[in-house]
Amino acid sequence: MSIQDVLKTMKDEDVQYVDVRFTDPRGKLQHVTLRHTEVDEDFFEDGFMFDGSSIAGWKSIDESDMKLIPDPASAYIDPFYAEKTLCVHCTVVEPDTGESYERDPRGCAQRAEAYLKSSGIGDQFFCGPEAEFFLFDDVRYSVEMNKVSYEVDALDASWNTDTEYEMGNTGHRPGVKGGYFPVNPIDDGQDIRGEMLTTMANMGMKVDKHHHEVASCQHELGLIFGTLTEQADHLQKYKYVIHNVAQAYGKSATFMPKPIAGDNGTGMHVNMSIWKDGKPLFAGDKYADLSDEALWFIGGILKHAKALNAFTNPSTNSYKRLIPGFEAPVLRAYSARNRSGCVRIPWAESPKAKRVEARFPDPSANPYLCFAALLMAGLDGIKNKIDPGSASDKDLYDLPPEELAEIPTVCASLREALEELEKDMDFLTAGDVFTKDQIAGYMDLKWEEVYAYEHTPHPVEYKLYYSC
Ligand code: GLN
Ligand code: MG
Ligand code: MG
Ligand code: MG
Repeated sequence: MSIQDVLKTMKDEDVQYVDVRFTDPRGKLQHVTLRHTEVDEDFFEDGFMFDGSSIAGWKSIDESDMKLIPDPASAYIDPFYAEKTLCVHCTVVEPDTGESYERDPRGCAQRAEAYLKSSGIGDQFFCGPEAEFFLFDDVRYSVEMNKVSYEVDALDASWNTDTEYEMGNTGHRPGVKGGYFPVNPIDDGQDIRGEMLTTMANMGMKVDKHHHEVASCQHELGLIFGTLTEQADHLQKYKYVIHNVAQAYGKSATFMPKPIAGDNGTGMHVNMSIWKDGKPLFAGDKYADLSDEALWFIGGILKHAKALNAFTNPSTNSYKRLIPGFEAPVLRAYSARNRSGCVRIPWAESPKAKRVEARFPDPSANPYLCFAALLMAGLDGIKNKIDPGSASDKDLYDLPPEELAEIPTVCASLREALEELEKDMDFLTAGDVFTKDQIAGYMDLKWEEVYAYEHTPHPVEYKLYYSC
């Protein structure tokens, strides 16, 4: 949408409010709401001043004035508010110079796209994230429901002696873990997922499918691929819709990577391809019908995977997912066939669909930084013709231990990922796409999380050591 289109929509739809949205370094969508009378052409051109000091990881209080520039192309009508509200995603700029604020994730995604163009390697980077999630009964809702059912039980007890019968079937139910893909009632998420997907489609997002996932209560909705910043915007909308539809159903959604020990975790595979002059750069006649560029791109991803982990797997919980046995990768290997390595080449029906799938990212990532960092690692691979080695077409976990030990791994903790990023950040700061100051600010936030986690006694430690 152009500025004029947005202003026309506001009139046609009798929009009362404009929600100005932006994403903080941790990846959380933030918002400020303006009365529609405040929004005209100048608002889109000149931007909107706000206090950036209250956002974790941004400016200090003494230099806190910042400016949000709304992107009319990202506009949508909010599907949840009672008052008709138009939402618009923003990039943050320095108020005096108008330059992109270096710590703004959305600005970083835009810088990565500009860097791709200036490199001459390609002009468009497409990505298709597959963000999984769990839906649990909302604690607040369950507490209320339990209270109601206790009351009903008490009533029943006073009226009936046959309480067994009144309680119905308490013993035989469809199991909760039916996995990929039995129909309802084992999969009880059809309606809620359908409502989520329809809501997204009505917001102008390109979506194609929804399904249950392998773990109990785990789901995935399909977003059709798009360009980097656009797709990161869509991922923010994806999470927003999932959280809010879940809430309306008395559920809570979580994107944390490993909510349940002993079951599959939550990944966000990222499918990626580069195009140049309207042609797909990744289709060719090498392994799995890839081009040299695609193989070098994979080489860059595998080489920088440990530093990438700080952006693609940025929570302490991320590393509870990256363990063997749950369809999440540990080994820095690639293959067209098996899913146990960090990179897979999905079968593609045409050269246009040829893409590379990074399987290690998870949706605790800030999507702007995650996609930008993946692109930068891949571009470093192409620039330096980094050989990814030969593909690993066997199930990597079936390899004899001595062969397994030869294959490098991803990080085992957020601490390790931050230490690796400290040593390997030049591929990110090329062309000032990421800056050293931005990375330092991001790392400060993430170290806080590492210390909070490392310094807190864990329930498992009580179990193991309380009576020692
Ligand atoms: N949940 C798995 C992961 O953690 C992926 C499973 C799948 O999509 N088949 O990456
Ligand atoms: Mg999928
Ligand atoms: Mg999946
Ligand atoms: Mg996948």
